[in-house]
Amino acid sequence: RPLVELHGVVKRYRLGGAAIIALAGIDLRIGAGEFVAVWGPSGSGKSTLCNMIGLLDAPTSGSVSFRGQDAAKLSDNARSDLRNQGIGFVFQGFNLVPVLSALENVMLPLQIGGASALVARDAARLRLEQVGLGAQLTQRPSSLSGGQQQRVAIARALIGAPALVVADEPTANLDTANALLIIELMRRISREEGTTFVFSTHDQRLLERVDRQVMMRDGCAVEDRLHAATVATP
Ligand code: ADP
Ligand code: ADP
Repeated sequence: RPLVELHGVVKRYRLGGAAIIALAGIDLRIGAGEFVAVWGPSGSGKSTLCNMIGLLDAPTSGSVSFRGQDAAKLSDNARSDLRNQGIGFVFQGFNLVPVLSALENVMLPLQIGGASALVARDAARLRLEQVGLGAQLTQRPSSLSGGQQQRVAIARALIGAPALVVADEPTANLDTANALLIIELMRRISREEGTTFVFSTHDQRLLERVDRQVMMRDGCAVEDRLHAATVATP
């Protein structure tokens, strides 16, 4: 059974009198441990699709299931629990708390979930070591490079050991070298821990590093293919 399943997902926004079809009917199944890029030009629906996959927003029609549970059939609390326990998020702008250290930023989700400071601190230290920041535990985000800040954000997304990490344009604010490092880091963790990653990007150069690419255009998934190098394009 797939980890995430989308059936006929349509997302329509209203802007004044006009209707914008951000997603025009998406069918997608993502299995446990897959490493998936959602690629497409600006405005093609990548971000909206990430929000659907991460259970952050409801589709206008169609359904989204996570671990076999249809999100629309859950109470708000049950859906929040499912998301908090099963899904980690990484954003384009890193979204770290500026007054907290790297360690404290990574601890935060566990502490909000009720873990003691001691338990949260140990887990956060391990995660920061895993992303190569064991020497930067006490530094605040402003004293870290963009690539380092995004690694803190990845450590934070992983702190609850989620089955799925959704990363919306995680490399958009990074140079190419750091962008590749972030992709390689996520891929390594996916292989090591079996974590499913879905990330969006408009950068075609990152696609050769993924197992599967979903190409978006005008709200449609126009192509869905496994490892680019092995499949000829028509
Ligand atoms: P991408 O991430 O590929 O740039 P988005 O998912 O952000 O694409 O946007 C898809 C389409 O939906 C675009 O036309 C965008 O302007 C529109 N859109 C996205 N979010 C909103 C919103 N909150 N309200 C109105 N239109 C939106
Ligand atoms: P809140 O922002 O209050 O925590 P949620 O983030 O759980 O609420 O959800 C935002 C809105 O989208 C709510 O109206 C919620 O019911 C709805 N929602 C989120 N994901 C889905 C989904 N996959 N299917 C149906 N409704 C959803």
